[in-house]
Amino acid sequence: MTATYPSRMTQTPGAVLQPLDDAAFSRVLVVVAHPDDVEYGLSAAVSMWTMRGVEVAYLLLTAGEAGMQRAPEAAGPLRAREQRAACEVVGVERLTILGFPDGTLEYGLDLRRAIAREIRTFRPDAVVCGAGQVFVEWGLDHADHRAAGLATIDAVRDADNRWVFPGLAREEDLPPWGVSWLLLYATRPTHFLEVSPEAVDKAVASLSAHAAYLADLPWHPAPAEVIPGALAAQGEPAGVPHAVTFAAHRLRG
Ligand SMILES: [Zn+2]
Repeated sequence: MTATYPSRMTQTPGAVLQPLDDAAFSRVLVVVAHPDDVEYGLSAAVSMWTMRGVEVAYLLLTAGEAGMQRAPEAAGPLRAREQRAACEVVGVERLTILGFPDGTLEYGLDLRRAIAREIRTFRPDAVVCGAGQVFVEWGLDHADHRAAGLATIDAVRDADNRWVFPGLAREEDLPPWGVSWLLLYATRPTHFLEVSPEAVDKAVASLSAHAAYLADLPWHPAPAEVIPGALAAQGEPAGVPHAVTFAAHRLRG
């Protein structure tokens, strides 16, 4: 089925949030544009998953080399080290950083193919990404975030179609893989995942791991001042102390 996305949202966006049924998850892939993108609350959900044995992998499409007050040649490796430290805090071992250009990430077939390759390699039950929107809760979203979100949404479908990017199967021995759940964050949610106080603490620590990056942003509040509040705000409509919310699309199963 290629004309439409064979997904179903189990409720209307904006209605009462439903708990995310993640009991069957064994592998989750998170796809973002930059180092630190997972660490603004999403890593609390990651922590909940890894604490019960779910394997979570991160795919970063750029090295974030254009995001600091120092040359890209220095910033890229530094941010990779800090991302690795952030991953360790929340129990993520598989971190892949691709070399697409930071700041000028473009939606396109190369990007979709690269993401589809990782989906077919890691074979996740769920993929988490941004929604690719211009407007987000905190304002106008970054162009790289929009490209990353849209390309990932499309790559989930590409990964499941043997006729799209046929070289992945033919030359790289990566047969199609169907993801069961597509979870979009930073958009109008349908589902929530309650996160424990320990997961909130780990989310704070994971953002704090980007120490040199944050030191380059003097206006940036301390992680402990922003992350618990952001997770509490997501928990409020669900009636729980802290949560991470998603627009959840069930693709199969
Ligand atoms: Zn970013």
